[in-house]
Amino acid sequence: MKTQEMLQKLKELEQIQYAYQYAMGVTSFDGNTVAPKNSYKARGQAMSVLSGETYKKFINNEVKELLYGLQEKKKELDFVSNRKVEKYIEEYEKISKIPIKEFMEFTKLRNESNHSWEQAKTNDDFDSFAPYLTKIIEFNKRFANYRKPEKKAYDVLLDDFEKGMEMDDIDKFFEQLKKDVVPSIKEVVSKSAKIRDDFLNRKFPIDKQKELSYILTDLLNMNRDDYTIGESEHPFTMGLNNNDVRFTTHYYGNQIASSFYSTMHEAGHAIYGLNSDEKLNTTVLAGGASNGIHESQSRFYENLIGRSKEFIQYVFPTMKKLFPEQLGDVTALEFYLAVNKPKTSLIRIEADELTYSLHIMVRYEIERMMFEGDVNVKDLPAIWNKKYEEYLGIIPPNNTQGILQDVHWGFGMMGYFPSYALGSAYASQFLAKMKETIKFDSEVAKGDFTKINLWLKENIQTHGAIYTPKQLIMKTCGEEFNPAYYADYLNDKFKAL
Ligand code: ZN
Repeated sequence: MKTQEMLQKLKELEQIQYAYQYAMGVTSFDGNTVAPKNSYKARGQAMSVLSGETYKKFINNEVKELLYGLQEKKKELDFVSNRKVEKYIEEYEKISKIPIKEFMEFTKLRNESNHSWEQAKTNDDFDSFAPYLTKIIEFNKRFANYRKPEKKAYDVLLDDFEKGMEMDDIDKFFEQLKKDVVPSIKEVVSKSAKIRDDFLNRKFPIDKQKELSYILTDLLNMNRDDYTIGESEHPFTMGLNNNDVRFTTHYYGNQIASSFYSTMHEAGHAIYGLNSDEKLNTTVLAGGASNGIHESQSRFYENLIGRSKEFIQYVFPTMKKLFPEQLGDVTALEFYLAVNKPKTSLIRIEADELTYSLHIMVRYEIERMMFEGDVNVKDLPAIWNKKYEEYLGIIPPNNTQGILQDVHWGFGMMGYFPSYALGSAYASQFLAKMKETIKFDSEVAKGDFTKINLWLKENIQTHGAIYTPKQLIMKTCGEEFNPAYYADYLNDKFKAL
């Protein structure tokens, strides 16, 4: 076959893959937002068939010959085509080693397990979720072993979510944080105890909170015709293409910071998806470079912008108008201090920036035990609680606020959590680079995101998955990933509080 013909075939494959992914993405978004509760079983059935079909369309000799054939013609292909072939071969290697029957079973299990987790979290009933969690761990172990029997299962999973990162790298990263940041946490937390934050838990009408979500996304220059904001138990973003991103937030009547920062966080993911270059749209290279890089964008908007003094000073007068009774006696500075108050808390997604990594370390160590050690699932809640006591000095009063709080394990995702901490660290490194050419603080103070958005778009978001995370960091920052920027950022910010 001629090279042009082969590239045409690759394009067709891409379009079929995209169509299935679109169908499954919309179904999954629907399932997590507006679908009736009892829809989960029949949806699992449908999703299992769809995933089986994508498997058959992708894992066959014709596709195999095409991909490896193109790989041989490397020299004739441009950079983007080569990268596509590389991504597809990676994916092919990953999926083809798993028998189709087990692949479909896992899709079904994930859907049911996700439902079980939701129920378990609502009812504080870990025991009902435990059998699903056991199966999820078994599947993940087995799949990792089918794929790369020579590697440790947890390393295989970590590398899936963040290419090039394994336990050794994560250990090094956490060691640096333990050395440079953790020692000061106790002192900062106790010094901050006086900061007033009671007003964050006043009654904030949900319809006004919804209005605030759109005020924030408008402020970030997002085009309302390209995204929607839904509601779900656990906020998430579904990026379908560069004109269709859906994200969710969760509104609590007595917590203003929760939806505020969930919206800022998910908006960061959404902006990333919307800024993918047109020539990558609906291809295997659309989306993002990795989960860690994705989290760098969400954490950038949530924290580096959203939790900065300048941003709060800019947006606070609008918030006061929206919530005159709730915030009438509060100043912008007080609000800033309250949403940054370092405290030892139970919930990861509501943690301040300083203690956030400790929440990730707990999860990382437990996942490691699941895959490396001989741990019994029924003992996990006690292990979780013990680690919270050790790292944060606080014991969860129930499993809903403990081991059941996050959506990931129920959904079959293991090895993802370190991406959050890495994302925060990448974001700090990007900010340091951005500040060489943009007066970041004064742009944020003006509420003008034109330059900041453009910098992120041109340096990171437009490239989709053309570069690996390591290549992208090198290209953007002119040096490798360096966690020192993160440690410096945290130490500077929290010493000044
Ligand atoms: Zn995120």
